[in-house]
Formats: sequence, C-alpha cells, structure tokens
Amino acid sequence: MALNGLQIQKLLPKTNCKECGSNTCLAFAMKLAAKKANLSECPYASDEAKKLLGADSEPPVKAVVLGSEIRSTVGGETVLYRHEKTFVNQTMLAVNIDDDAAQADKTLEDIRDYKLVRVGEVLTVNAVAVTQKGADNGRFVSLVKKAWDVTKLPVIIRAASNDAAKAAAEAVRGTGSVIASVDAGNVDAMRGVAEENGHILAITAHDIDGITELSAKLKNEGFNNLLLQYDTKSAAEAFQTNSIARRAALKQNYKPLGYATLKFIDTGSLMDDTAEAINEILKYGGVCVLPGFDPAQLVALMTLRLNIYTDPQKPIQVEPKVYEVGEPDKNSPVFVTSNFSLTYFIVSGEIENSGISAWLVIPDCEGLSVLTAWAAGKFSGSMIAKSIKEYGLEGMTDTRKIVIPGYVSQISGELEEGLPGWKVLVGPQDAGDLEGFIKTVLK
Ligand code: SF4
Repeated sequence: MALNGLQIQKLLPKTNCKECGSNTCLAFAMKLAAKKANLSECPYASDEAKKLLGADSEPPVKAVVLGSEIRSTVGGETVLYRHEKTFVNQTMLAVNIDDDAAQADKTLEDIRDYKLVRVGEVLTVNAVAVTQKGADNGRFVSLVKKAWDVTKLPVIIRAASNDAAKAAAEAVRGTGSVIASVDAGNVDAMRGVAEENGHILAITAHDIDGITELSAKLKNEGFNNLLLQYDTKSAAEAFQTNSIARRAALKQNYKPLGYATLKFIDTGSLMDDTAEAINEILKYGGVCVLPGFDPAQLVALMTLRLNIYTDPQKPIQVEPKVYEVGEPDKNSPVFVTSNFSLTYFIVSGEIENSGISAWLVIPDCEGLSVLTAWAAGKFSGSMIAKSIKEYGLEGMTDTRKIVIPGYVSQISGELEEGLPGWKVLVGPQDAGDLEGFIKTVLK
C-alpha cells in the first residue's frame, strides 16, 4: 500500500539537514509520496526506511546503467515535464553499424574520436549498436567484439539468431551491453545469457500489451535489468506510445512500463531520422540508435539534448574567479563579464579569436546573463570592484584598465569609484564585436 507524506516522514531522520535539497524532512517526504524524489537523495535514510518504503522508494522509472568503462544511466526519471523538477538521465545517443558495412573499422574510430564541446562540456557518442545482416555469425561476433575494443562503449547487440546473440554477449562479457530485440520466443534463453554475462535485455513485442506481459514476467522472475523496445512505425506513434508509457509509470506507478526505452531509427531519410531522434530526446527516449555516423546530425541532436537535460532550477554557470585567456602577463588587458556559462564561453572565445591574451574577471552573478544580473543587482560596479580585490587581480597585472560589457555602461562610474586608479572602458554590446573593439580601441 502506498504511504502518504506523514507516514513517510516518520521513517526519515527528522534532522532537517537539507542535504536532499528539501528544507525539511517533511517536505522531502511529501516529494517521495508524490514520486518527485528518490529515497537515495537522503544520505541518512536508515536500512529500516529503505526496507519499509520498499517499492515506494524506487523511482517510477527504473534507472539502468549501461557500460563498464564508460558508463551511462538511463531512466530514473520522476517527472513528466522538465519544469516540474528536472529530467535526470539524458537520452543516450548510439550509432548503428551493420556487420556487412564496408567501412566498419573506420566508423568505429570515428565514433570513438567524436567530441563536441558545448559550454564547457565534452559531448560524445554513448553506445554502439551492431546489427547482423547475414548468416555469418563469426563476422557479426567479431564486429561486436571490435566495437567494444575500439570504443569501450556499451554495445547494443542486434543478432539474427539466438546462437549469434549468445556468442556476441559472451565476447563482450561484463561490459554492461544490451541484447536487443528479445521477444516472447527467445526471452527465457536470452535472460540466461544476459544474467551470465552481465548484460541488459531490451524486450520487444508487436504492441504495448505484449511488452507489458514480458516485463512483468521478467520482474516476477527477479530479472529487472530491462529496456523496453516499442515496435512503433512512425514518429507520431512513438510520441504517443512513449507518452502513454511514461504517464502510466509516473501517474499510476505502473511497474511493467517503468523502464527506459530503446529505439532503433532507420527511416531511410536523414531528415526523417533526425526528426524521429528529436522526438525521442523530447519525449522520454532512453537509448536512441541512429542508423549511421553523421557528425552534422550529432551536433544538432547533442545540442538539443543538452538544452533539454539541463536543470531548469540551476543556471549553467562557471566558477567565479579570474580566468586566463591565452597567456596573459602584467600588461594584458582586463575584461569582465557574468558567470553564465554561455556568456563566459562566447566572450572568452571572442577574445581568443582576436589573437590577444587577457585576464577575464568573472564575478558571482548566480549564473545569470549580464543584463539579467544587472537588473537583479548582481552585476554592479561595487560588487565587481569587490570581486577584483578578493581575487587579488591587482597583484597579477599592472594594467589598470578594465573593459565592461556595453549593455551595462551605467555601472562605469560606480566601478571607477570602487577601483581608485582604474579606467573603465565600455566595450561593445555584442560579444561578436569584441574582436573589432580590441583591434581599434585597445591597440
Ligand atoms: S537529507 Fe534526509 S535527513 Fe536531511 S533533510 Fe533530507 S530527508 Fe531529512
């Protein structure tokens, strides 16, 4: 029977230490009761609480870890909409290779080497899928093994037979890989293979009822390391099915659908493939397998995913301090901007592109952009002056000129008052004009 918030609170330590992110144990208990938090977020929960809460303390969508050396988690979600709290584990992006592909080795190296840097984060491909196209089990198993050896990513094994799946699973034993497309016909055999080799099963059926039966059966048998592979035929159907399943898991606590998904995408059209992948990222996809390696497609999908899976309650920010752009010395110019990550990376990039080295002062604006921080009183002349003194910048450089963003020219007087002996220069409003400003005004 589900416990209410007051009943759950009695099982918590009642110290109101706030480490779970809630102000009180009661507030946390209310979130647990509403399935908007996990008991694991309270580091002091007793074994008794874990036992008594049992299924009540499990997230409604089970978290599953893929991989061994490079690990990714899917599932573990507690909300339907990002603004309710946050999404926790981002959609994994995997790339498929057919075992008859001509350039398989090269593709594996491309997958391994692909890195996209966005706002200080390095984004990479999360898994490799290998699909068996012919009857040659040896060729398929060899490519599965090579996919692991080259990339160290979890491998999604899509075999044409039980024998090939078993041999491939054994070849990558202990790597937290996935045996895909397991249905009612081979689920018993594949469950044994997955258990023996430490892998995850992706189960499939013609409809959502068939998948429900399979997942309930496996859970009853004690096997819970699952992904659900819905057999949807269009983006619209995938959108609808993923939404129904997530709603059932979160709102009705319906355990048979409380697992992350796996979806192979291959429409034959780059645009449609990308649209389907976007659908997966936006609507609850767990693992999304792209039909091939296409850097242009990955840039778009990873950028979208980064936006969806940031925590709306925590602005993306960089550490407040003085940053070195290039190799600044005692004569290098000084710039200041906010600690909103995007602003920091754009401004530092533009300074770098201009070919000079500089000191970049980043005060603590709580991750807000320049204008928002100024409007909130967190980017004022006095607080920038205070930050510069705290960071010890005056000991790092003899320069006594500082460039402020053009949008907040009104703080220049207050900043000069706070920094006697300094001259404040008003820079451009747009960071894109910094290079020209540096070449004309600072030279
Ligand atoms: S972390 Fe645990 S003990 Fe601390 S406030 Fe949260 S629920 Fe209470």
